[in-house]
Amino acid sequence: MDTSGLPVLDERIAGCRACPRLVAWREEVARTKRAAFADWTYWGRPVPGFGPPDARLLIVGLAPAAHGGNRTGRMFTGDRSGDVLYEALYDVGLASQPTAVTADDGLELYGVRVTSPVHCAPPANKPTPEERDTCRPWLVQELRLLRPTLRAVVVLGAFGWQAALPAFAEAGWSVPRPRPAFGHGTRVPLDGLDLFGCFHVSQRNTFTGRLTPAMLREVLRTAAETAGLPPPPPPG
Ligand code: SF4
Repeated sequence: MDTSGLPVLDERIAGCRACPRLVAWREEVARTKRAAFADWTYWGRPVPGFGPPDARLLIVGLAPAAHGGNRTGRMFTGDRSGDVLYEALYDVGLASQPTAVTADDGLELYGVRVTSPVHCAPPANKPTPEERDTCRPWLVQELRLLRPTLRAVVVLGAFGWQAALPAFAEAGWSVPRPRPAFGHGTRVPLDGLDLFGCFHVSQRNTFTGRLTPAMLREVLRTAAETAGLPPPPPPG
């Protein structure tokens, strides 16, 4: 299988400057920094997807956090949402370690890739619909490259859901019409893969108990099983 396409795509994404508002914001945040990270050189660019190019499971978030992915250069790395997500991935056997601190911390994902429909940190974590649509071709290309192995997708939150469904349609999957609504635990079969809805791992959801650790693990476990992950233990 040719997997050379995804690293090339990731590099191209990292050089994108298509959204003037987001380019200005990500670079301003990288200049001004947060006091706690004053000695960091922020990434300050689009954050590409993270994980193997032959992933069977894809996790789709919203957009990088200003002082998380926009600082470290890796999806969900260095922020509270990522702490929750990677700890859960580790617990269900899909990650090599429970923490994600820097891009070179040695974290490996097993059969899972993490991406987002908007690759630049937006002010107040809110991309505009226009920015979402401008970024969609990157997700469409990523989906096409993952298609040979992809069997399950977990979409975190309604924004990601609304962005992901048109991307799947554009990448060649038959998406039902009317489009299925987002909900935690929603499961939608597309051709050859299952799409799962899950509340976003944001602090707003995890601090209030809207998304509990058990709920997150349940969705990840079900999606991983659907995708054939982790590999079953050898017989005997
Ligand atoms: S959000 Fe997407 S399309 Fe817009 S500048 Fe960033 S990478 Fe490019």
